[in-house]
Amino acid sequence: MDRCEECGFEYDLSEAATGGRAIVDGVSELAVLLNDATSDLRTRRERQTWSPLEYTCHLRDVLLVQRERVLAARHRDRPSFDPMGRDERVEHDGYAEQEPAAVARQLTDAAHLFANVLSRLGPDDWERTVMYNYPTRSERSLRWVAVHTVHEVRHHLLDVRRQLAQPVGADHLSPNAG
Ligand SMILES: [Zn+2]
Repeated sequence: MDRCEECGFEYDLSEAATGGRAIVDGVSELAVLLNDATSDLRTRRERQTWSPLEYTCHLRDVLLVQRERVLAARHRDRPSFDPMGRDERVEHDGYAEQEPAAVARQLTDAAHLFANVLSRLGPDDWERTVMYNYPTRSERSLRWVAVHTVHEVRHHLLDVRRQLAQPVGADHLSPNAG
């Protein structure tokens, strides 16, 4: 994937070194949305689509997982990773029950934690590789991992904005209603 058809993000590996900054900036936009007390963050607009709060919890966990993956690649050659269990976490971590202000704080911290690890990579470190299993099993450089994580932030920012733009209908569904 060089360009995401859905959000228009382009994978430019020359921008990896500024990825940490882009992640922190994108997350600060999300934190503003999450701290808006007038928004309905918890309600799913469609049964199968995550609520804004659920998307944000997911992104927080992505940033924490990606940080561990980059750290693993620094001391092991080409580590391979189990899937993070993105769908299972919604229930196992109770995304819909979390406090938006707390999630905004955690998300901001996760972005800074990840950006710090990226900021400590030297020129050779960026070329270290991991076996990445999404979207297909491929060997990826840490440059790609950083740019892919920027994409995660930008894509989920779009997801959250889309959900917030949709009115919560009379037939709104909580995640546990189905
Ligand atoms: Zn995208």
